[in-house]
Amino acid sequence: MTTAEIIAVGSELLLGGRVDTNSLFLSESLAEHGIEVRFKSVVGDDVEDIGVAVTNAARRVNLVLITGGLGPTVDDVTREAVARVTGKPVRLRPLALESIKLRLQSAGRVISENQRRQAFLPSGAVLLQNAAGIAPGFAVKWKHCWIVCLPGVSHEARRMCAESLLPILRREGLLSPAIEIRTIHTFGLLEGEIDNRLRGIIPAASPFRLGLLASPLGVSVSLTRSEKLEKRRAGKRTPTKSDASLDSLINDVIARLGQHVFSIDGRTMEEVVGRHFRDGGFTIALAESCTGGLIAHRLTQVAGSSAYVDRGVVCYDNRAKIELLGVPGSLLKRYGAVSAQVAKAMAQGIRMRSRVDVGLSVTGIAGPGGGTAHKPVGRVYVGLATATESYTKKFQFHGERETIKLRSSQAALDMLRRWLCHASLDEA
Ligand code: ATP
Ligand code: MG
Repeated sequence: MTTAEIIAVGSELLLGGRVDTNSLFLSESLAEHGIEVRFKSVVGDDVEDIGVAVTNAARRVNLVLITGGLGPTVDDVTREAVARVTGKPVRLRPLALESIKLRLQSAGRVISENQRRQAFLPSGAVLLQNAAGIAPGFAVKWKHCWIVCLPGVSHEARRMCAESLLPILRREGLLSPAIEIRTIHTFGLLEGEIDNRLRGIIPAASPFRLGLLASPLGVSVSLTRSEKLEKRRAGKRTPTKSDASLDSLINDVIARLGQHVFSIDGRTMEEVVGRHFRDGGFTIALAESCTGGLIAHRLTQVAGSSAYVDRGVVCYDNRAKIELLGVPGSLLKRYGAVSAQVAKAMAQGIRMRSRVDVGLSVTGIAGPGGGTAHKPVGRVYVGLATATESYTKKFQFHGERETIKLRSSQAALDMLRRWLCHASLDEA
């Protein structure tokens, strides 16, 4: 099995202002192709330090994947560091120079001396073209190991991983379908509750592993086929059989988690909801208080959402709830803005005024201030109104302001999803 280490290069990644996010999608992509990422490291723009990191990595894995430090400036020294470690001095690669020139030409610019530096690659390296940017990548075989360098700019690294890196690894026979990960996204159950429901679902000798990961958007259940476990079973199973049982395992998980499962194919809640809206031909309008437009933002992140999103209003103040939605002042006075009654009136108000099929509202206390013993921080009401029915649901969330906003938006979208697929709006 191929093992890998990802090295993120960039002094900014060590100063706290920037996080290495490239290694996330790189790890995911490698795992999907059966490569086990064993280590990750972050190193500054220093030729010695990069050299040490690469040397250490090459001792323990057979794929060293570096991202960053391929730019045109003097602090971009990844090329030089790899050249020193491998003893393959940098040389001008005419093809790389040509691509850089062409790319600049299309933007009406000419190549600078600095940019020319980017065409100098360790001798014998495989050139990895960068269709999304200027800095070319490269791959060098050294001892038992491949050292691959991709740019730091995320969208360039992502694209080159798919278009350049994986084809090389495939050609070298380094990919295998060994690690298969399937993720089931749920909302509305706590991690412990899921753990209880799934207890004993994986038989002791099975080649599968189960993992739970909680976030404000719910709990994800991941099912991984582990090669180590599979090997222990000494070829008793063929891959086809494992695939079949992974499917049946997923079905078992869904049966135990019921309507709390909202996606098994990687789609986000807003994508799932969007698909239901399109299929059903419905339209929606939103009245958001504590989520401040977050639900409208999330729904409109989905391409094609103009087919079903009509409008959204942020009605933070009571006056806005009265003026924009027609919520009766008496209701606000009697029950308070954070109440089931007001959530319902908000959903009905926005639906009536925008003449859509569904009105969805959220009102709550995101904190850190504003809570009382009776209505603590994290108390949120979601309202959903259609031409014939209105529903409200009360939630009590925990966490910081941003987390509460995110959870509220997810809870509201989940209520919508349940309504759209005719599921119970409550537990299942
Ligand atoms: P390139 O190799 O494409 O030239 P670079 O590291 O030389 O990249 P920089 O200007 O340092 O160029 O980085 C480009 C952008 O990419 C910066 O905004 C930087 O913070 C970001 N970046 C670099 N590495 C990473 C990483 N591992 N994860 C997320 N962002 C990164
Ligand atoms: Mg950099």
